[in-house]
Parts: sequence; C-alpha cells; structure tokens
Amino acid sequence: MIFARVDKELCIGCGACEGTCPVGAISLDDEGKADVDIDVCIGCGACANGCPVEAITVVDSETETDPAEE
Ligand code: SF4
Ligand code: SF4
Repeated sequence: MIFARVDKELCIGCGACEGTCPVGAISLDDEGKADVDIDVCIGCGACANGCPVEAITVVDSETETDPAEE
C-alpha cells in the first residue's frame, strides 16, 4: 500500500496539503499538524508536491522505501 507520511517535526501546519488532497485524507490534528488517514489516502503524491517544507513523503508500506527516490 502506498500512502503519504507526514514528518510532524517539519510540518508548519499551513494546511496546503489538506486543501490539495483529492480524497480528503488529510486533516490537521490537535497540534495543527497534518494528519493522513492512510485508509483513505491513495498515494497520489499531490500533498507532498505542494508542501512548502517537504514534510510529506509518499511511502510504500511493503518496502518502507520512498518510490520517488527509486
Ligand atoms: S498522497 Fe494524495 S491521497 Fe494521499 S494524502 Fe496526499 S494528496 Fe491525499
Ligand atoms: S503542506 Fe506541509 S507544512 Fe503544510 S500542513 Fe501539510 S504537511 Fe504541514
């Protein structure tokens, strides 16, 4: 399964990813950090492309590698 992972240490809570996600998989958590519902995420990568601080990585849960770096 491919899904987006947020590094909450990097996330500045701008909300860009929340507005970009085509399936509404992202919401901001109690601390204002992006949170991905991996059951909803389709791994399209739109959020990662739009994040100003590169806090999001699309990962493959089976290999735990970043497909974009292969
Ligand atoms: S990878 Fe696509 S579907 Fe998944 S959270 Fe990001 S924008 Fe939404
Ligand atoms: S676009 Fe990046 S910095 Fe903005 S809320 Fe999403 S993960 Fe956080």
